[in-house]
Amino acid sequence: MTAAMVIGGDLDHGREERLTSSVAPTLGQWVSVLVDCPGVEEAYTYGVPAGWTVAAGDIVEVPFGQQLLRGIVLQVLSDLPEAVAAEQVRPLTAVVGTSFLPVGYWHVLEQVAAYYCTPLIQVVRTALPPGVLGRSQRRLRLRTTAIPPLSVGAQQVLTFLQKSATGDYSLRYVAQHVPRSQRGIAELVRLGVVEVYWAAPPQAQAQWQQAVVLLRCDGADLSDRQRRIVDYLRQQPQDCWLQDLLRATGSSPKTIQRLVERGYVAIVARQRCRLDQGMAVPADQPQGLTLAQQSALAAIVASLGRTQEFLLHGVTGSGKTEVYLQAIGACLAQGRSALLLVPEIGLTPQLTDRVRARFGDRVVVYHSGLSDGERYDTWRLTLLAEPRVVIGTRSAILLPLAGLGLIVLDEEHDSGYKQDQPQPCYHARTVARWRSQQDQCPLILGSATPALSTWQGAQAGHITYLSLPERIHAVPLPPITVVDMREELRRGNRTMFSRLLQNALKHLPQQQAQAILFIQRRGHSTFVSCRSCGSAIDCPHCSVSLTVHLHDQHSQVLRCHYCNYSQGVPQRCPVCDSPYLKPFGSGTQRVVAELNRLFPDLRVLRFDSDTTQRKGAHRQLLAAFAAGEADVMVGTQMLTKGIDLPQVALVGILAADGLLHLPDYQAAERTFQILTQVAGRSGRGHLPGQVILQTYVPEHPVIGAVKAYAWQEFAQQELASREPLGYPPIAS
Ligand code: ADP
Ligand code: ZN
Ligand code: ZN
Repeated sequence: MTAAMVIGGDLDHGREERLTSSVAPTLGQWVSVLVDCPGVEEAYTYGVPAGWTVAAGDIVEVPFGQQLLRGIVLQVLSDLPEAVAAEQVRPLTAVVGTSFLPVGYWHVLEQVAAYYCTPLIQVVRTALPPGVLGRSQRRLRLRTTAIPPLSVGAQQVLTFLQKSATGDYSLRYVAQHVPRSQRGIAELVRLGVVEVYWAAPPQAQAQWQQAVVLLRCDGADLSDRQRRIVDYLRQQPQDCWLQDLLRATGSSPKTIQRLVERGYVAIVARQRCRLDQGMAVPADQPQGLTLAQQSALAAIVASLGRTQEFLLHGVTGSGKTEVYLQAIGACLAQGRSALLLVPEIGLTPQLTDRVRARFGDRVVVYHSGLSDGERYDTWRLTLLAEPRVVIGTRSAILLPLAGLGLIVLDEEHDSGYKQDQPQPCYHARTVARWRSQQDQCPLILGSATPALSTWQGAQAGHITYLSLPERIHAVPLPPITVVDMREELRRGNRTMFSRLLQNALKHLPQQQAQAILFIQRRGHSTFVSCRSCGSAIDCPHCSVSLTVHLHDQHSQVLRCHYCNYSQGVPQRCPVCDSPYLKPFGSGTQRVVAELNRLFPDLRVLRFDSDTTQRKGAHRQLLAAFAAGEADVMVGTQMLTKGIDLPQVALVGILAADGLLHLPDYQAAERTFQILTQVAGRSGRGHLPGQVILQTYVPEHPVIGAVKAYAWQEFAQQELASREPLGYPPIAS
């Protein structure tokens, strides 16, 4: 049950000024305002009505064209800019919220905009949760039923509009559904058939709910039902939500009403904070640290309160997370908040649970998978000075945390920290550096396989190097056996499992052990087909199926392997218009099918983007696997991160080659990182671990380095080989 928590934040409680008369006000001052309107990027000058006080950072409402939009005050100007004529300046119409951003935070947003060459408003949009500014939308609506003769294009738009119940669509939606709609729309507007207008979407708002407050609990005159409620409330540490109380006690609203009348309880409206609280986890205590952990922690704690960057380099299972947790504890004890960034939140339920177990209610999570309401409330919560632990993905680095005292990037090498699209593209590590400078706090970069740029910074001494060279309890790293798959083929083994791997899989049940089989996402391209009519999406030039490629973390493109033609993945089947278009025959599915055929007794789970789409699915699959409900888990890159399962003794890497052949100067670095991470899932408990790495190029130097866990040698070699080519990090 959620406690009846109240959150403040100036957005709701700030002073509010609003122009009421239609008489032009005398203007006292000028401000430059960043308005939130698609396509508008520069700041505009507005007048401040006499008697109003406005400061940089305030959220205001301004007239813009025919609209009223929200915007942020960038600067208060004592003089009107020369290029602006006084009679063109319009007054602000309202101050919606007073400045709420911490000092210095705005500076970081400006740094992001400048460094990544992005308009400031784009950065602001990424930083603020949806609904603070409110973006207007251009919409199209029917004005008349008297239709003059129309061109074909205009008729298409009109027919589309007429199909909707209200005759009203956003321009974007029309453009997506009616090809080349622009001229048609222009014609319809000219003829007065439709009009284009701006509509502000509803603002995100705090949610108000009824809470029950216990006023007295003496009375011997209570009925049993009333008594039950009073007793229940007495046992709660905080006030209860009415809804929750009714459910928990099985009472009727009437009984509670009766208690209100008799003065036992009061019902009050409170803001309900919508947070992604997850499930309750049992509390845990800090562990006694190893010597290596102790010295790492001491260095970090000594740096609290100033800007310093650390690389915490430790093999998988060496206790990095425990160091983060204790450093965060020290930061909280000093009354400041900590930010723990992870590459992908859904993939790290175990880490999130550990942080919750340690810090309880002070933990909040922030990522793009939250609902708008959750993001809005979490964001506002971070504005308050109370020390908190925020776990989040890359966008959390732009949270306006008041009193930031520590930043941790777990798996700092991970490409999930880089945003390419939508704008602004930025790297969370870079922004984290600026914030650590701005807020004078340490930044910990943790990894078993640091990014080469980070490694180089540590070598050059800009970054303080902290090392955890051994696994906890000196558990050995699992030995890696490399299998040449060409040889397997020569010996007549046409399956995707080498004989060694087959043998190991066969013995799993006997050892009461579990296995993870890994295939990399890329290189196993798939095609898209319609579940309704069965047609696949073909190349318009070559009539072969287009295959799905990951464009970036979030979007996919379809590409033709013959002519390189590419297009986006359509929402609906081009043949039958069914929405059930699905990628088909993914690599993991094939592996599972093969496993079932060869080892009918092994119970297999699939862990990939298909099976983990639903909210909470990662957690459920992992929990099922941890509970021993399956012997083998087959998965992609998703499996590599933050999974600590003691029963996993065998890791099989089915084909490492696709990674190596990526046309990217970082291919070797990424391959080393991913393979090492995957291997690290094995042998974390009492069972001795084993890793079988299958490849068609066993002689490749990266494979050799992975096998030997030779990170330093690999890093030196790789840096040396990039130097003559001028590739980063040398060049940067
Ligand atoms: P990493 O983050 O480097 O992969 P973890 O912090 O997850 O390593 O530690 C691996 C395992 O060892 C975890 O189960 C953790 O609870 C345990 N552990 C960490 N530090 C200690 C310690 N000092 N003593 C005993 N166990 C520890
Ligand atoms: Zn179809
Ligand atoms: Zn083609």
